Amino acid sequence: MLGIALTPEVIRLMTSFTAVGYELRDDPKVSKKPKLKDVPRGYGVQISFGATEIWTKFIIAPGIQRTVEQNPQKPSTITVPLDAERLEALMNDTLKYSDCAEYITRLINRAAEQTGKPPESTNIMGLFEKIKSQPKGGILFDRNDIPGHPEIPPVAGGGGWAWGWYPQGNAMINIYTLSYFSDNPRGASRIPYAYGERGVHEVIHLSAKGGLGYNDAELTKAARSLEPDGSFVDWDGALKNHCMPPQFR
Ligand SMILES: [Zn+2]
Repeated sequence: MLGIALTPEVIRLMTSFTAVGYELRDDPKVSKKPKLKDVPRGYGVQISFGATEIWTKFIIAPGIQRTVEQNPQKPSTITVPLDAERLEALMNDTLKYSDCAEYITRLINRAAEQTGKPPESTNIMGLFEKIKSQPKGGILFDRNDIPGHPEIPPVAGGGGWAWGWYPQGNAMINIYTLSYFSDNPRGASRIPYAYGERGVHEVIHLSAKGGLGYNDAELTKAARSLEPDGSFVDWDGALKNHCMPPQFR
């Protein structure tokens, strides 16, 4: 996700500049496209592409010969670790921000009205506990496959995914861990907020009666209906508006 494949030409071009900073930015090309894959045996998997890519800012270093090695101390990549306990704490923080929890209740209820699929609950942390205790599901990290279901094509990329049904004991969410460059404290401070929001996002997918219910397109329709003039391109953007401080959206 965070590794961007570069051609040798691009790498050569980049090394002729001096990096002055990095930032993480949502990729609108990707995040606008909700994906719902239909797979054999009636299973579906909801994959969320709240993609983030790294943009590197450069200044041109004047007067430096190409033969001079630049940036001999390259910044290292540091992954911010995550487990279920940490995710739970970050999601609680997310839900306490502004009108986040109240907005989510309205969003789920609107999606329920529009889709005809009643909610399992609008209590996100209650659902999180339910998912955590699923014998064949749970809270997963950095998984591209669905445990116990090799028939479902592997998924990769994006911020996370959600799948499964409570009565079958296989409801699960997966969150991909994020990294930042060692010389970019701003990237480090943003990641906990991204984790909290992503956890909430994936649990909302499992808020319909029985489990997997509202897909990204349905939630975007619900978000748009709640805020016809809202400044967002999809429901994840609306969720961020209500649940994250502006500097971390
Ligand atoms: Zn999603």
